[in-house]
Amino acid sequence: MKPVNKGRSILGLNVHGEAKPDLLERLGEFCSYCECPGAAQQLHVEHIYAQAKTAHPNLSKAWRNFLIACGTCNTYKSKHLGNDRQRKLLKKFLWPHLDNTFRAFKYFPDGRVEIPAGLKPEIRTLAESTREMVGLLKSPAVTTDYAGTSIAFDGLQKRKKAWGIAQRARTAYLENQTPGQLESLLDNANQTGYFSIWMEIFQDLPPVRRELIRTFKADSFCFDQNTQPSTKGRL
Ligand SMILES: [Zn+2]
Repeated sequence: MKPVNKGRSILGLNVHGEAKPDLLERLGEFCSYCECPGAAQQLHVEHIYAQAKTAHPNLSKAWRNFLIACGTCNTYKSKHLGNDRQRKLLKKFLWPHLDNTFRAFKYFPDGRVEIPAGLKPEIRTLAESTREMVGLLKSPAVTTDYAGTSIAFDGLQKRKKAWGIAQRARTAYLENQTPGQLESLLDNANQTGYFSIWMEIFQDLPPVRRELIRTFKADSFCFDQNTQPSTKGRL
């Protein structure tokens, strides 16, 4: 899950839709949870705390309560949390604007997303809850309902496809390491989405990873000079 930097708050929003251009500018045109790409019209302003007026009226227009999400993640999250599990969300889950969520998940060629070994037990629990909340990152093998299973299979296929595209881009780049080839690689990455997959494929090539971090608008403070993940928040 790509860590992001939302930057300074934007105050005085009248409706939450007004935040969208600024969010897309700072976070990129990708879902904050599943990393899929999307046109501006397809991506939603995601309310971390649901915007139900009765539940959190003061957060419905608050910059700190926004991320960007695709329709699938947005819907699944609100269904999963319901109205009665909306307390202390910031503590109960990991968040890409608060934590270095890049360290919480590991992506595989077959589309799986697993939680890496070596995380502290309490962080592992948070990562598991987060994966569960978004639905898209969970394994089809462990879903319990039809909606969850079909979403999981869909996500799996998309990530598998992105992996193949990134792998082919790597081969082309290694054969021809020119600025032009790098530019086309970045265009390709931007269109394909799935930041974490591209980072995994290019893990031995920090110069390319630096450009990926920039292109995807990941939080640059979450990576050191060699593009290895550094600490942010609880990770
Ligand atoms: Zn999504």
